Amino acid sequence: MNIPKKLSDRIYLIDDYDLGRKGRTGTYVILEDKVTLIETCASPSIPHIKQGLRHLQIKLEDVEYIIVTHIHLDHAGGAGLLLKDCPNAKVVVHPKGARHLADPTRLIAGAKAVYGKDFERLFDPILPVLEDQLIEKHDQETLSLSPSCSLTFIDTPGHANHHYSIYDPISNGIFTGDTIGIFYSELFDDGIELFLPSTSPNQFDPEKMLQSLSLIESMNVSHIFFGHYGMSSNVKEVYRQIRFWLPHFVNAAKERDVTLSLHDQILQISEQIYVKVASYLDEKNIPISKDLYDILHLDLQVSAMGLIDYLTKVEK
Ligand SMILES: [Zn+2]
Repeated sequence: MNIPKKLSDRIYLIDDYDLGRKGRTGTYVILEDKVTLIETCASPSIPHIKQGLRHLQIKLEDVEYIIVTHIHLDHAGGAGLLLKDCPNAKVVVHPKGARHLADPTRLIAGAKAVYGKDFERLFDPILPVLEDQLIEKHDQETLSLSPSCSLTFIDTPGHANHHYSIYDPISNGIFTGDTIGIFYSELFDDGIELFLPSTSPNQFDPEKMLQSLSLIESMNVSHIFFGHYGMSSNVKEVYRQIRFWLPHFVNAAKERDVTLSLHDQILQISEQIYVKVASYLDEKNIPISKDLYDILHLDLQVSAMGLIDYLTKVEK
């Protein structure tokens, strides 16, 4: 049974079992007059979301808003499929992402290019969202969920240009998607917080990422709700680590051997970052489980692709 995690009186976290993994990607449920979900993950995760909502005794017809922080498939890929079962819901998206949800042809082509034969298992189906079911929110626009709660949308590029973060005044928390990294919350049980940047293709920009981080920092939030995975209330440590790791990521990519094949460049960069992360954990006497090893390699390889993509653009 997929029991949602209670984060506060009104915010729950449903595990989407992205890639079949526990604690990988989450959907947040905000219980206000207008029931609101943040992130849908990819279509294979929709049954997990529905199960979590059942557990919270929320009817699918009571869901009013499905907000996606950005349109990468592990955040919004399942929006069209979920919407089929939520007849009264609207999908809220960044203005730069809206057309790709309405017509996912490019999303599908992009994912097929990266994931090849794994596309069907990981993402299928990616269904369009009808235009009259889409709401676009520009920077600083709000969405009222109840007389006492209006969410504010804040442009936070860096991971992607079509990325916003969502500020919730009641919790004084912010839903940051992938803007300021990934929280490896499985390590939290061992008493360590690891936050790494997510630099995946093809709009990664380190300057914008740091600007977005500074903007979020200036808001003095009490909690950060990550796309992957869960909530951290140790916000200063989040800012510190992303600022610490991001230059390591970029430098590892700058030092790549460009005479290697693209595939081998990706492996070289991700391995170089991995070694740093592993020694960081080793210093703290934290063992790396097989699961964590796998997920770090997966994430770092995708990040390496984005780093190469970024450097190729700036080196031109
Ligand atoms: Zn993501």
